[in-house]
Amino acid sequence: MKNEVIEASKIIISTGSEPIPLPFAPFDGDWIIHSGHAMSLPSIPDSLLIVGGGVIGCEFASIYSRMGTKVTVIEMGEKLLPEEDDDITSILHGELKDQGVTVHISTAVKNINAASKTVFLENSDGELEEMHADYVLVSIGRKPRVNEMGLEENDIDFSRLGISVDDRMQTSNPSIYACGDVIGGIQLAHVAFHEGRVAALNACGQFAQVNYRAIPRCIYTSPEIASVGLTEKEARQKYGEIKVGEFAFSASGKAVLSNKPAGKVKVLVNPQYNEIVGFSIVGQHATELIGQGTIMLHAEITADMMEDLVAAHPTLSESIHEALLNSVGQAVHC
Ligand SMILES: Cc1cc2nc3c(=O)[nH]c(=O)nc-3n(C[C@H](O)[C@H](O)[C@H](O)COP(=O)(O)OP(=O)(O)OC[C@H]3O[C@@H](n4cnc5c(N)ncnc54)[C@H](O)[C@@H]3O)c2cc1C
Repeated sequence: MKNEVIEASKIIISTGSEPIPLPFAPFDGDWIIHSGHAMSLPSIPDSLLIVGGGVIGCEFASIYSRMGTKVTVIEMGEKLLPEEDDDITSILHGELKDQGVTVHISTAVKNINAASKTVFLENSDGELEEMHADYVLVSIGRKPRVNEMGLEENDIDFSRLGISVDDRMQTSNPSIYACGDVIGGIQLAHVAFHEGRVAALNACGQFAQVNYRAIPRCIYTSPEIASVGLTEKEARQKYGEIKVGEFAFSASGKAVLSNKPAGKVKVLVNPQYNEIVGFSIVGQHATELIGQGTIMLHAEITADMMEDLVAAHPTLSESIHEALLNSVGQAVHC
């Protein structure tokens, strides 16, 4: 490899993140794989064991089960997608089960024997089990890529959580900015893009700050899950009492017509000013619908302001309006 030195008055670091292996089983790419490998397997496997029921694990479970693979998900926590509300994840859990995915919650992978292609499990009751699969996809999290970049020599503060930056994306070295997965926090493409824009503007002498107020979170399972703002659990912790408005897609003409009525819209409202503080949607096109909630949170719109909105019928969008009406006791079709 040819060495080259490039000089610049300002530098932006955006080296991303990398998958975390199990401590006792490094990735080999042949049998113990990460998400990168899972996107380019030579053929559709008969069986796939997924370690970790977070976003990436659930997405690959959904993708491969729909292609005919026998999928098993092992999750050490008490439920899939630990960040999202129980009522939202339980709908996905049920749908995955109906699609033939086997999910073991409260179960940890204790060891792996690559030679015999055996995975050793232990559940919370101490029961042991052995499993076999064509591939073991390990999706237990990602870590910022901070090694071998000379961060220490350049006085750039960092930890295992990522490079430290202020809200202008500037590191502890004023000439160096960082953005995206390498700073930890919310590891999503649109967040990295927004942070990159802020870093570039500041590096070019302008003043820009990141806005994390309304970041949509999209999960591309079947059905999709999308949320923005606080979850119900977080909203109750922050405000105590909150108003919750819901609308089930089984009451939506458009969802029923498409034969995919599973799921619902949930909106969370702070009763003090009826400010909308969170949306969670599970169901078809949830990742498109969340755009409406994102705008409402970004613009700090209240539930009262939405009461006399006219939503087109029949659309999935009117479910958002119905959930908002439900939150302020004005629902008509719930
Ligand atoms: C399986 C999977 C699915 C995902 N799905 C979604 C999704 O649906 N929506 C979403 O918003 N986000 C999704 N993400 C997250 C999203 O991919 C990341 O948040 C986003 O790519 C982060 O952007 P980044 O620029 O910080 O890092 P990256 O996109 O990872 O880019 C970093 C780049 O830097 C390069 N690099 C690293 N070190 C060096 C070096 N020393 N020298 C030169 N180059 C280097 C890397 O090769 C890489 O190309 C997903 C992630 C995974 C793993």
